[in-house]
Amino acid sequence: MKRFRILTALLVVVVFSGFVFALAENGSESLTKLLDGNKRFVSGSLAQKDLGDAKRKELVKGQKPFAIVLTCSDSRVAPELLFDQGLGEIFVVRVAGNVVDPITIGSIEYAAEHLNSPLLIVLGHEKCGAVAATLEAKGAPEGNIGAILRKIRPAANAAKKKGGTKDEILETAIKENVKNTSKDIIKKSAIIRHLVHEGKLKIVAGEYSLQTGNVEMIELAHAGNKPSAKTCPSHAGQHN
Ligand SMILES: [Zn+2]
Repeated sequence: MKRFRILTALLVVVVFSGFVFALAENGSESLTKLLDGNKRFVSGSLAQKDLGDAKRKELVKGQKPFAIVLTCSDSRVAPELLFDQGLGEIFVVRVAGNVVDPITIGSIEYAAEHLNSPLLIVLGHEKCGAVAATLEAKGAPEGNIGAILRKIRPAANAAKKKGGTKDEILETAIKENVKNTSKDIIKKSAIIRHLVHEGKLKIVAGEYSLQTGNVEMIELAHAGNKPSAKTCPSHAGQHN
C-alpha cells in the first residue's frame, strides 16, 4: 500500500512537470498556429470554421484562447480574419494605434493569467492612421484623441529623428510604436513580467500589411522570452 502511494506521488510529479513543460512550449506553438492561419488568409484558402449552434453551446462552458492579440481598431485589421481563426480561439484587445493603458493591460493580464493564453502578439499595421496623425499633429488634438497621440509620440519623435521620406518615417514610427507598446506592457505589469519569466507567456510583435495581408514579425530586444540574468523581464523596468 505504501509503495502504491509512493508510486502515485511519483506519477503526479511526472505528470505535473510534463504539464508545466507543455505550457512552456505553448507560446511557440500558438505563434505557429497564428502564422499558419495568416498564410491561409493570404493565399485565400481559409480553414473550415465551426460557427454552428453546437460550437456556440460548447463555448458557453468557457473559453481557452490560445493567443492574445493586441492590435489597432482599424476596420481593415480584423484579427480573427487575418489569422483565419474561429470562435473562442483568440482573445482580442483593440484600440486605435495599439497602445496600452491600465484598462488594456488589465485585459491582457486577465487573458494571460486567468485564461492561461501562452502568447501575446502586439500587432501594428501599414498606414496606421493613429500613427500618421501623431506625426502630423500640430497643436492640441480635439476631444480625447490626444491621449492616444501622446502614447504614440515617442515613436513618432524617434522616427522623425531617423529621417527618410514621409512614407519611410511613417513606417519607422509604426514599428517603433509596436516596440514601445510591448515595452510598456512589460514595464507596467508585474503579472506579465512574472508570466514571461516563468515561461508561461511569450510576447512577440508584428506588422500587418494592408496590401498583401501578410504579418511580418518585428524583433523585440527586450521581451525577455528566454529569461537569463541579462534579459530577465522581472528587471525590465531597470534597463528600459
Ligand atoms: Zn491603425
